[in-house]
Amino acid sequence: MARSRQPLIAGNWKMNGLKADALALAKGVADGVRQAGWQDRAVLICPPATLLAAVADAVKSSGVLVGGQNCHAKASGAHTGDVSAEMLRDCGASHVIVGHSERRADCGETDGIVRAKAEAAWRAGLVPIVCIGETLAEREAGRTLAVLEAQLRGSVPLGATAATLVVAYEPVWAIGTGKTPTTPEVAAAHAHIRQVLSNLTADAGSVRLLYGGSVNGRNAAELLAAGDVDGGLVGGASLKIDEFLAIAKAA
Ligand code: PEP
Repeated sequence: MARSRQPLIAGNWKMNGLKADALALAKGVADGVRQAGWQDRAVLICPPATLLAAVADAVKSSGVLVGGQNCHAKASGAHTGDVSAEMLRDCGASHVIVGHSERRADCGETDGIVRAKAEAAWRAGLVPIVCIGETLAEREAGRTLAVLEAQLRGSVPLGATAATLVVAYEPVWAIGTGKTPTTPEVAAAHAHIRQVLSNLTADAGSVRLLYGGSVNGRNAAELLAAGDVDGGLVGGASLKIDEFLAIAKAA
């Protein structure tokens, strides 16, 4: 059966990359995407904010999209060190990751803050990738689906549609650890997320749901084929050209 949702493979470079290496990585990904000529999937890279404009320029006309890793909820003002969604857009971004578990943990971002950031993304014309995921303790307590539901209800703004929202399911214990849930576990989580979204959005069936957490070139085909998975949010493996392209190929 043909997919109704175009897969999205997003690379989250996190706080990695100085200009020379980052531009080589961006150009390598752009060359690979150009050669592959994919019409049936989208590839996005999210470099650090300092490199966004240069990376956007480096991938120009390749079809590779660029996004931010975070934004402030306000458009401008006295927020030293922060970057607004409008600034990301001005640098060439089309997407922004909000609510990544590292920001929830490191910066105390609550569901309410994440929702405000998603609204800021809309205001600037960006698509937010809203991240949710349970901790190991929550999983072991059998609370995974309840946690995902609470995070979704708290983090997804009213009025979201498939064109204005991407959700990434990222079990916190799977990020950067080499551990992954089984494919039935991923499928169950995604089915639940889609079910909850049907109460929050008009077209939940068309919203793209990404899986993230230790995706690599070897496990991508299996993880990304799980039910209701429409691509991946990739951390460590997005820093290697061949590995990231292999994941995009598997999608
Ligand atoms: C992430 O941080 O979004 C992520 C999925 O990281 P990794 O692929 O390294 O687990």
